[in-house]
Amino acid sequence: MREPILADRLAVLEESATLALNARVKQMAAEGKTVYNLTAGELGWDTPDYIQTAVANTLSQNKYTPVAGLPELRQKIAEKSREFYKADWIQPSNVVVTAGAKPALYASLLTVINPGDQVILPAPFWSSHKHMAELCGGKVVTTSLTDNFDLDVNAIAEAITPNTKAIIINSPHNPTGAVFSADSLRKLAEILKGSPITVIADDPYTKLVFTDDFKPITGFGFDSLVIINGFSKSQALTGWRIGYLLAEDSLAQAAIKLLSHIMGNAAVPSQYAGLSALERGDKPFNFDTLTRQCDLVISALSEIDSLKFHAPEGAFYTFLDLQKVTDNSLEWCEQLLSATGVALVPGEAFSAPGFARLSFGGDEEVLSKALSLLKDYLNDSTTQKDFQ
Ligand code: PLP
Repeated sequence: MREPILADRLAVLEESATLALNARVKQMAAEGKTVYNLTAGELGWDTPDYIQTAVANTLSQNKYTPVAGLPELRQKIAEKSREFYKADWIQPSNVVVTAGAKPALYASLLTVINPGDQVILPAPFWSSHKHMAELCGGKVVTTSLTDNFDLDVNAIAEAITPNTKAIIINSPHNPTGAVFSADSLRKLAEILKGSPITVIADDPYTKLVFTDDFKPITGFGFDSLVIINGFSKSQALTGWRIGYLLAEDSLAQAAIKLLSHIMGNAAVPSQYAGLSALERGDKPFNFDTLTRQCDLVISALSEIDSLKFHAPEGAFYTFLDLQKVTDNSLEWCEQLLSATGVALVPGEAFSAPGFARLSFGGDEEVLSKALSLLKDYLNDSTTQKDFQ
């Protein structure tokens, strides 16, 4: 059979660097090498038993549901989101349930981006934001976050042109673990007042917050806002693929129309998994452990002189500033992996060379050992350790 001729749009697409690295790490582990994998974008623990049990009782329900999700799930998401976001406009008709947050994001972008429209992404950013915007025919314009990983509102204001159609905001932030300040979000909302720009708030980490300074995105007066959220990160449900978007009626209807052709409904058992998480109060699962692991990271990294890092305010990431350590973060991450077995994601994956992302949501023992290997490696960079 001959190779099909692929469409031009594939040329802009690279495989997610985080998934590729994760696959490499798994392969090394399969070869019997000890790997301390701090690359994953998910919690290490199993989906809670109460969700597994609740879903087991629903397996006889196996037909299509409405594209936007089971009515009782939309109802419950609307109720809980109204509470969390303190936003009365969120009614069941404003909820569209999807197979994870990714299709919710892509559907949102498809509904607002025409080919040639500009999408502003403050860097570092999660690479799928860029690829999704480009798949819609959008032109990505990057600005930088501040040195402290807050939104640089002046830089965004300068980047806005008559062609700007959307800005993607993600707080708590992947890859830095930062929470954007209320002040910068308020200023951004003021700048965008009356403009045709839609803010897409990618919110999957909003339940995983370690600071009192976090305020939901609905509190700043954005005129046009789509919220993406889900259960993957807070309920250890990544593999179940269940998320949702919240938008005003016309965008929600447009997204449902799109998704009816390209996705259909999210898997029924996963919808029930989301429902049971909400019925338990939508509290993040095992958050005490995550908080302890966050503290462990902060105290271990504070002992490494050559490293600057951002103390996580949310999510389960910290971003290591490698500028005193290396000129090439990609190579450095590879050397670290071969020398110690510790796997981090190089900043290049987030358009931020000179940095590396450390994910601390996995197994605590692995995290502890990895932090101690990282410390030894950096405090004595002449020591190249063999590992097995
Ligand atoms: N948005 C951000 C910022 C993420 O980090 C991720 C996952 O890594 C997602 C969206 C996708 O979440 P889901 O697994 O629910 O599709």
